[in-house]
Amino acid sequence: MQKVAVVGCGAAGLCVLRHLTIPRKKDLLSSDPIRFEVVAFEQAPEIGGTWVYSPETGYDAYGLPVHTSIYKNLRTNLPKDVMCFPDFPYKPELPSFLHHSDVCAYLKDYAQHFNLHKYIKLQTKVEAVEAVPSSDGLLNNSVKWRVTYQNLSKKTSSNLAVKNDEANMISDVFDALIICNGHYSVPFIPEIQGKELFQGIVIHSHDYREPEMFADKTVVCLGARSSGIDISIELTSHANKVFLSHRGQPLQCEFPENLFEKPGIRELTSDGVVFEDGDFHQIDTLILCTGYKIDFPFLHENVGVQTEHNRVTPLYKHLIHIDFPNMAFMGLCLNVTPLPLFHIQASFVKAVLTGKISLPTADEMRKDEEEDFDERLRNGMAQHYAHMLGDKQWSYNNELATICGCELLPKYFEDIYEFVKVKRSKFPATYKEMNIDFPFED
Ligand code: FAD
Repeated sequence: MQKVAVVGCGAAGLCVLRHLTIPRKKDLLSSDPIRFEVVAFEQAPEIGGTWVYSPETGYDAYGLPVHTSIYKNLRTNLPKDVMCFPDFPYKPELPSFLHHSDVCAYLKDYAQHFNLHKYIKLQTKVEAVEAVPSSDGLLNNSVKWRVTYQNLSKKTSSNLAVKNDEANMISDVFDALIICNGHYSVPFIPEIQGKELFQGIVIHSHDYREPEMFADKTVVCLGARSSGIDISIELTSHANKVFLSHRGQPLQCEFPENLFEKPGIRELTSDGVVFEDGDFHQIDTLILCTGYKIDFPFLHENVGVQTEHNRVTPLYKHLIHIDFPNMAFMGLCLNVTPLPLFHIQASFVKAVLTGKISLPTADEMRKDEEEDFDERLRNGMAQHYAHMLGDKQWSYNNELATICGCELLPKYFEDIYEFVKVKRSKFPATYKEMNIDFPFED
């Protein structure tokens, strides 16, 4: 029996928990099914990760930074058909583009259905993970992991401010470790010339909750990825004017009449912004929709993982620690359908841990990792998008599924995703009103 620790119980953690705790029919039939003793650590009082909405920003009741980046009115940018685990559909009566509360309820139903709660320690924060050398003092393939965690519910009001409350710390050693701590929680704050002069409000999209507080204001949203576009459109119903500032190609779409696309920000002044086209506008608020930093604050140096410009190394297929394949990092991939991808990644991790598949040698895996990265750079991808898959997600999913022998995702996942991608780019303000019936008509 292998002891496995899972850090985090958002969608990724729940998915890997489901795969490690439910034997497949084939495993049951085998004379020696490999079983796992799994413990999943979740620092929040409930499961669901970023989908557990909170109107709070800043720090929570236990002195931890608020994890969720979801805002009050958020509806998903993917339809329910492709933002589910393939073996657990949403209720058919729900609309295609879901309110965040439906996603949270779905994850809770999933946990209930697969009987996952008995493996989960809520309000338990992993504070440290370190590699335990084998008896000869070496860190090798059979390395184990010491996990030190803290039961937050035992924190008293007098010690809430204390970061590491030694009396509450417990350590345990595991044979394998799966990291699922989420990557949309630690804001990336860019340097902007003149920021210290600006007298208005500056927030990151992580702390954006509702448009009402921007009534009659002039707002700049910096960054035109999913959150930047979605938040700037939502703001137009209350704000006086919204500028969507970004350095990409002009967006070819219909926007509400008080939303204006602008290039990047050259500098901030005390009461406004100078865009890179030289235009000055007075503004009240700047919302930084500038993305997030990947962070593993609990990993000890001897785990041998580096995170530079949001690139985590050394990882095979964005997932398996190359030097210690009994450690995996779920959910690093960007621009994907996350839940189906988690399903495939979890099957792959299970196959590695059971020994059902053998991985290439460490040198071969490192070569694969480097070649993949170099190809991205050659194709003009910025360094911090090392884990961006986009169109490559389908071949990635198929490759992993084929290697580990799990079912491929149905082709309609890709068809629906591509169909919605086009609608979203042309009609960002209205595409969520669509109801997608499959097979659908364009
Ligand atoms: P999370 O959901 O962040 O879960 C991580 C968990 O780990 C949290 O519960 C956290 O408390 C816990 N944790 C962290 N550190 C520790 C620790 N030290 N000890 C114990 N527990 C810890 N995806 C879609 O499919 N469709 C969408 O429309 C969509 N919209 C999005 C909109 C926004 C604004 C954001 C931020 C994300 C959106 N996503 C969307 C992506 C979303 O992040 C994924 O769908 C998915 O929920 C990620 O799951 P996760 O488990 O990787 O991370």
